[in-house]
Amino acid sequence: MKDQVERKTKIAAFVCNWCSYAGADAAGTSRLQYDDGVRIIRFPCTGRIDPLFIIKALEQGVDGVLVSGCHPGDCHYATGNLLARRRFNIFRKLMLFLGLDERRLQFAWVSAAEGAKWTAVVNTVADEIKQLSGEPFTWATPPADGKKAQSLREQIAAIEQAHRVAFQESSIEAQEAAMTQQLRQQAKQLLDASEVNAVLGYTSGTLPQTANSFFALSPDVADQLVWNRYCQTNLAVYLTRPLVRKLGKIAVVVKPCDARAVVGLLQEHQIQRHEVHLIGMVCQGVETGGAMALKCLSCTQRTPTLYDTLIGAGGERPTASSNPLDEIVRLLDNASPEQRWNFWQDEFSRCIRCYACRAVCPFCYCETCITDKHRPQWITPSAQPEGNTAWNIIRAAHLAGRCVGCNECARVCPVNIRLDILNRKIAIEIKNEFDYEAGQSVESAPPLATYRPDDQQEFIR
Ligand code: SF4
Ligand code: SF4
Ligand code: SF4
Repeated sequence: MKDQVERKTKIAAFVCNWCSYAGADAAGTSRLQYDDGVRIIRFPCTGRIDPLFIIKALEQGVDGVLVSGCHPGDCHYATGNLLARRRFNIFRKLMLFLGLDERRLQFAWVSAAEGAKWTAVVNTVADEIKQLSGEPFTWATPPADGKKAQSLREQIAAIEQAHRVAFQESSIEAQEAAMTQQLRQQAKQLLDASEVNAVLGYTSGTLPQTANSFFALSPDVADQLVWNRYCQTNLAVYLTRPLVRKLGKIAVVVKPCDARAVVGLLQEHQIQRHEVHLIGMVCQGVETGGAMALKCLSCTQRTPTLYDTLIGAGGERPTASSNPLDEIVRLLDNASPEQRWNFWQDEFSRCIRCYACRAVCPFCYCETCITDKHRPQWITPSAQPEGNTAWNIIRAAHLAGRCVGCNECARVCPVNIRLDILNRKIAIEIKNEFDYEAGQSVESAPPLATYRPDDQQEFIR
């Protein structure tokens, strides 16, 4: 006889110890009944709930996650829930952009006295999740159905093609040569005067049309420095590396997008202003695939926000009439959640977990990345669908409000996963919600490290 046992909807409830856990307890002592598919996991504070925990729960087979904590103003750590409110707001938007049905990820404020509210919230959430389907939620689809994502991919390619701009060889080469001379002279001066112990810039790569990172440690090698449209690497990534820190004060060559990363590192107290001399380059854009990089078409900065010495002069740079990356984000926003989910699963399925994206990002400076932790093992180490999905979401979530859009992560990805689209989507949401653009001012607080009492919370029950 066929087994007719009904599958129970599984909901993970992440609750803070002081309010929502006590509220759930109050529901129990009052003998209020709520859905028995819910499992409560207690945290000291909602501020301690990393998006990683939510992803892990979904990956392990729950149908939905409910996060609940103290009402604003009641946090036992004063502001933990207010900081969490911002983080969850952005994380929720990221998940919706990936195609997750919003009913699967819900938030509520429940106090210790609100046993009845806890009961009502849990029952409503359970009912909504049950409406989704009788099937268990499939977190990652192995293997992803690439054909379903094909149409979106073709439309993205069409947008990119429409915005393709080639460099004007004749004018750019003269400009690059002049700037290279100025840069070498500046590097020699700084090293001769012992103002810095090294100049970090670029030198010609071994292959044509490439440039590599280069440390000039003495004036006699300064002539190996170059400046051209192939100087892609965001050199700010080196500033937090222990071996580079041992050099003491160094000068570093920065494009405007690189300078934004330096601003971010200063905001996060990873470097001190007196430790670096910034050689700002007036930027003509960088080249990828024989045309101007997509990020440069929508870039409005020619001069870095922060520098000690400026090299180059003004002049026009072709820019797109509209931001192509924003167009791509809009295209995905307008697709159905299922199309988006397929698209991103297909993207993530290609990840080989090389972590090149992490290695080039100035903001991935943790001594031990979450992906390298084995006890507990939050993200499976090998390249397979569940871990790939978790890694790519967590990378984007941990960089929310910090990413300066240098697009290095997307550029170096050997399998062309569209990390730039994910990064841009979050940057747009951060701008809309908090009127903040990363890397513009050392004085301003990163948006997810602060809060406003009137922050948006209509997504919270
Ligand atoms: S994004 Fe802007 S600053 Fe960065 S390389 Fe392109 S044009 Fe230069
Ligand atoms: S660079 Fe690409 S393939 Fe490598 S870990 Fe990052 S997303 Fe995956
Ligand atoms: S996440 Fe990517 S685009 Fe953003 S700062 Fe890091 S490397 Fe640059």
